[in-house]
Amino acid sequence: MTAYDKNNIFAKILRGEIPCKKVHEDEYVLAFNDINPQAPVHILVIPKGAYVSIDDFGANASESEIAGFYRAVAKIAQENNLAAGGFRTIANTGLNGGQEVPHFHVHLLGGRSLGPMLAKAA
Ligand code: AMP
Repeated sequence: MTAYDKNNIFAKILRGEIPCKKVHEDEYVLAFNDINPQAPVHILVIPKGAYVSIDDFGANASESEIAGFYRAVAKIAQENNLAAGGFRTIANTGLNGGQEVPHFHVHLLGGRSLGPMLAKAA
């Protein structure tokens, strides 16, 4: 696992150096609209702690950070009317996962039927 880069774009958003369209904030998370939405609702949920990826977060975050993060994901889904109709969460991880920003984040996507999970494998 690569070391955390404190100059990644989500770290800058957390420090308030770059603006975001905030939808939720609490002690553990910041959630904001994705700048390039792939669905009518496309929210990114990021922990406030410095974790590169979901495996870093799962291995190294405290119990309260992990609980706080996933409780916030559930709350944000409810608050944005995603829960009743269903939605998708994605955590792209590393090179094969196509992760672009090396600060752990969950994509919350919904607002329409999202189709198959992945394009057919080549
Ligand atoms: P990933 O490929 O999982 O690392 O996804 C990174 C996501 O961050 C992409 O969906 C981008 O559109 C999104 N993104 C990049 N920069 C920003 C930004 N400044 N504000 C909001 N979303 C961003």
